[in-house]
Amino acid sequence: MSYKTMDDAATSVLERTADERDSHARQERGRLRDKLGRAITDLRVSVTDRCNFKCVYCRTGNEGAQYSELPIADYLRMVRRFVALGVEKVRLTGGEPLLRSGLLEMIGELAKMRTAYLPDGTPTEEGRPLDIALTTNGHLLEHMAGSLKEAGLNRITVSMDAVDAETFAAITRVPRSFDRVLAGIRQAKSVGLGPVKVNCVLLRGFNDGQIEQFAEFSRREGVIVRFIEFMPLEEDRSWRPETVVPMDEIVGRLDAYRPLVELPPNSVSETAKRFTFDDGLGEVGIIAPVSRPFCGHCSRVRLTSDGKIRTCLFSQSDHDLYGEMARGGTDSELDAYIRKVVMRKEARHHIGEPGFQKPSRNMVHIGG
Ligand code: SAM
Repeated sequence: MSYKTMDDAATSVLERTADERDSHARQERGRLRDKLGRAITDLRVSVTDRCNFKCVYCRTGNEGAQYSELPIADYLRMVRRFVALGVEKVRLTGGEPLLRSGLLEMIGELAKMRTAYLPDGTPTEEGRPLDIALTTNGHLLEHMAGSLKEAGLNRITVSMDAVDAETFAAITRVPRSFDRVLAGIRQAKSVGLGPVKVNCVLLRGFNDGQIEQFAEFSRREGVIVRFIEFMPLEEDRSWRPETVVPMDEIVGRLDAYRPLVELPPNSVSETAKRFTFDDGLGEVGIIAPVSRPFCGHCSRVRLTSDGKIRTCLFSQSDHDLYGEMARGGTDSELDAYIRKVVMRKEARHHIGEPGFQKPSRNMVHIGG
């Protein structure tokens, strides 16, 4: 840049410094945002990285938990800081969250928290209850659904990668697992945890033959089925682009089964493209992080079971919020730490691009 006079140059420097100060001040207050202006309203908390399934696309089958678990009170303190900064939705996950002792008490405490901002971003004194969700493999759900609902859980997502019992057992590597998960889904519905979402990761040559049966399942059981493209997040690094069943193919198959009707998104940060069928019965969604990335609308950060913040599923490192807390960090110091970390949230993932680097942790140890 060239300046006509020394005064012009000085004014420009002063203006820039003022802009930087303004932007710094904005980062220190107000709703939590990253450097791209994305509001962070959605926190996923892994409460354990233990899992009672060994799904072939997720785990090697030989490795167990790798990271520590924290006392429930420590997760709650960290969640409180995120809520004070603008988080509205908390999803509990793992590993398998239903294995975690103290889970019901944790949900009970989350249910008492109130949001610090209204959905339009205005700060509020009263606040609203959090949207509390949980993702589970469903194995222990039948007996826990009622207590989860009573504790204050709002919504549940059950991962189920086949509607055929044999294929299901082959994927999970747990015999007779399908009937238990199905019973869990039905019980969740009957205690009022609906609409239950059923997530299916499609793998070419493994369960992609079941797309139409999943559509039937949605219509018969009254659940929302969501197909998810397979991402490179597995322990044994078996991901290949050819294994991914892309969105267009899924849509084509469903539409041939029965004409699809597109549904509007529930929110701007909705990850799924939603459809029903021409008779309005059933709902299917497709989450396509590989063929149609939605990073531009990402409103999410994750907290791992050992208290690290991950700003993207594909992050190369994590940030030790628990360490800050264990060193005696005050609430305002933790808030400042969270703001600093979130500022560095990655713009997007690079799946399928040359030079793509696998993240430093796999899905089961991050919390999906
Ligand atoms: N145990 C719980 C469950 O099964 O839902 C929660 C944890 S699990 C890691 C969360 C979700 O991640 C599951 O729906 C699972 O199918 C999905 N997942 C695991 N590995 C994945 C991958 N490589 N690509 C896409 N989704 C994956």
